[in-house]
Amino acid sequence: MRLREYRGQRVRFRPALDEDRVALIPGVGYRPDELNLCSEVEPLLENVPPLRGPNALKYVWTHHRREALTEILPAAPALVYMDTLQNRVDAHMVKKHVGPRPDPAQLKKDIIEHAAALGFSHCGVTLLDRRFVVEGSDEGFPYPRAIVLGMEMHREWLMQAPNYRLRRYPDYDVYRRAGGAVHRLANFIRRQGVSCSARVPFNGAAVYPVHAITAGLGELGAFGGVVTPEFGPRQRFCMITLDAELPLDSPRDFGLAEFCEKCLLCVAKCPAKAIPEKPLWWRGVYKRKVNDLKCWAFFTAWHTCAVCINACPLHRYGPLEVLDHYERTGEVKGYEEIMAEKPAYRGTPGSEELLEIVRESELKGGSPGSRMEGHR
Ligand code: SF4
Ligand code: SF4
Repeated sequence: MRLREYRGQRVRFRPALDEDRVALIPGVGYRPDELNLCSEVEPLLENVPPLRGPNALKYVWTHHRREALTEILPAAPALVYMDTLQNRVDAHMVKKHVGPRPDPAQLKKDIIEHAAALGFSHCGVTLLDRRFVVEGSDEGFPYPRAIVLGMEMHREWLMQAPNYRLRRYPDYDVYRRAGGAVHRLANFIRRQGVSCSARVPFNGAAVYPVHAITAGLGELGAFGGVVTPEFGPRQRFCMITLDAELPLDSPRDFGLAEFCEKCLLCVAKCPAKAIPEKPLWWRGVYKRKVNDLKCWAFFTAWHTCAVCINACPLHRYGPLEVLDHYERTGEVKGYEEIMAEKPAYRGTPGSEELLEIVRESELKGGSPGSRMEGHR
């Protein structure tokens, strides 16, 4: 077993079997040896290809100009704080604490309440699984327990997706809101004398969905992200690892993943055909592995997408109503209407260029066997 060193403590790269929470996820095919081997010899790579390296700013300006000043730039303080100041603030605040360390169960209760007050819709506790932390990013996740936090995206904005006319990403603002709130929550934890490290959404250094699922917040949706009983696919996640033994939550079966197998609207509507029709084995997990190359090619060409989220009946009508409808009628609510909606990009200028990009990416990246997990 490989061990890494971090701040003088030894970080176990593979979980021991009794800590392997992926094994607990209901309905997910899983081969631990394969996942362990892949993580060992080919650790995951950072998951947002256009944002890697020196071209990141150029990419944001070229493709997301419209949102850059109003939605992306306001998220910058949280990112700067995360990378430059957080550790120093942590040491300072934790040192100032006097008195005994808090009781873990009470601390968890307080954290859940505080997270809700800060606007988080979801909060659960799980063990950090280092097989889903990308290579070279362990420093951002120094502790073995993780609080996973979800925040709802703007429903009305997503209802307009894909907004090809405006070429506008449906909701960057959630990164600003959740990015600020996760740091405020981290400071709340530090004031109780507990060290922690916060990671904003869109950080790309760990795969959040698997942690959200093992923390019992939702299930793996066919589109590769998490579907929750509150909003379906309409939320973004972030994480805090902390130095306290908070009671763990367990993965739960809400019946949503099972419903996905009857629905598959996101698979049918994805304009880049990035979501495979059938699940496949990928790094030891049996799932619909989204082909990031195709998804990003489309996203970049059109500066927008999220068709998979907006096509989802769980998002449009609410999970309770959709599951109830399915139980009564055996049908997917809104299926015909959503299927009949015309893909708005067809016939608009540049659609041929786009389709060419998709065809090319299909040739280059037809196999999803890369080290890029993506968020899905
Ligand atoms: S964001 Fe668009 S291209 Fe990417 S998987 Fe979803 S529908 Fe497909
Ligand atoms: S569109 Fe259908 S298959 Fe896709 S995530 Fe939503 S419920 Fe699941």
